[in-house]
Amino acid sequence: MSLAKTLVKGKIDRTVERPTELLVPLVDKFLLTQGENAEWMTDRCIEIATDLFHNMNDRQEERRRRKLFGASSALSCMREQELSIRGMKPVPIIDYKLISIFHDGNWRNAKWICIFELMGLLVRYEETKLKKIYNLAGTPDAELNLSLYYDNIGEAGVEIKGMHDREFHAFMNNDHSSRFGMGRIMQVQSYMLITGAKFWIIWGENKNTQEYGEQIIYRNEIIINYLKKRYRYQLEARKMQALPAIECEMHTGDKIYVRCKQRKNCNKLMNQEYPTMPPMKNRQLLARDFMKELK
Ligand code: SF4
Repeated sequence: MSLAKTLVKGKIDRTVERPTELLVPLVDKFLLTQGENAEWMTDRCIEIATDLFHNMNDRQEERRRRKLFGASSALSCMREQELSIRGMKPVPIIDYKLISIFHDGNWRNAKWICIFELMGLLVRYEETKLKKIYNLAGTPDAELNLSLYYDNIGEAGVEIKGMHDREFHAFMNNDHSSRFGMGRIMQVQSYMLITGAKFWIIWGENKNTQEYGEQIIYRNEIIINYLKKRYRYQLEARKMQALPAIECEMHTGDKIYVRCKQRKNCNKLMNQEYPTMPPMKNRQLLARDFMKELK
């Protein structure tokens, strides 16, 4: 029996207005009934993995070439984004662990996208979408068709995230107050701004234990409006031929500065007194207010 039929037999009637779980029961069932014997390297999975790895850099380059803001950088420093878009050479990464973390993330994405494909759920993966008015692009990891299994749900966007143990437990408690947490929420709210979707699934995997789980994040108009303001501010800076304001403390004691790939260029331009916009009001929502918004 095909997997899709196996799962349809267990169709789940979700009549609640805001379900908190959609994908986990389906993945549990797949892994328990098919996971051990599934043929992983189907032609389609090989095609997907090849495409993901071959075209990764092209997708980024395309975004840079078209000077688009990226949903995945929604919470990053706006000045850093602009400098990258202008093609300024980033500080090279000399941390082998960080490079390994990037690779781990790419393989994790490929693994889950292929699992969703084997489950018969995958409609699209890594397909870039645009919201021209905000000059915004987003490339959701996966878009799934859940209508076979849920009466009142059609397509659902999925963002795949690997997390270390502590972050994963916070995630499972619906706590997104860390910088990573806020970043992933801003990212999926940006996807909802682009697509008009009412919810987005964040699919988390614990990097220490391979435990997985999901959080269904609903569209939040206050956060969406805040994001619109950010993108307008970035566009205004571009129109004025200025750079967005400084967003970090500009010293090595500040993690944002240390992680910034444009810190050298940023420093140089600051010393040259390059035209700079005044800071955007309420640039960062405080974690406390942010959490309130998610309730
Ligand atoms: S150094 Fe700080 S202000 Fe400058 S681009 Fe990087 S994060 Fe932004």
